[in-house]
Amino acid sequence: MAQEFDVVILGGGPGGYAAALYGAAAGLSIGMIEEARVGGTCLHRGCIPAKELLQTAEVVRTVAGASPSSTCRCRSSASSRSSTG
Ligand SMILES: Cc1cc2nc3c(=O)[nH]c(=O)nc-3n(C[C@H](O)[C@H](O)[C@H](O)COP(=O)(O)OP(=O)(O)OC[C@H]3O[C@@H](n4cnc5c(N)ncnc54)[C@H](O)[C@@H]3O)c2cc1C
Repeated sequence: MAQEFDVVILGGGPGGYAAALYGAAAGLSIGMIEEARVGGTCLHRGCIPAKELLQTAEVVRTVAGASPSSTCRCRSSASSRSSTG
């Protein structure tokens, strides 16, 4: 069955869903055609996964650079703080 919309958007990336939001806010009926997954490059391959990879790499580098002595210092300061009340 055919459906009619005021606006049909091709692609559900940031451009597509911003257009859909503006159109819907203006009271228009919106149709969206997405061939893969809504969210586009930014959500699935670009901005978000890239930030996750960068953050993970930073954590790995921090942990790899930690020494047993720095771990001991953290523990002793924590226990001395708790023993003084
Ligand atoms: C590694 C990487 C990191 C990035 N980091 C950032 C960042 O930090 N900050 C930032 O602002 N930008 C970043 N970007 C850029 C950002 O991802 C793009 O600017 C943004 O995704 C563009 O949005 P768009 O909606 O124009 O296109 P896209 O996100 O590419 O969305 C297009 C959509 O259309 C669909 N489509 C295509 N052809 C058809 C068709 N014929 N029929 C149906 N559906 C179709 C696709 O499946 C897709 O979902 C990054 C990009 C990459 C690759």
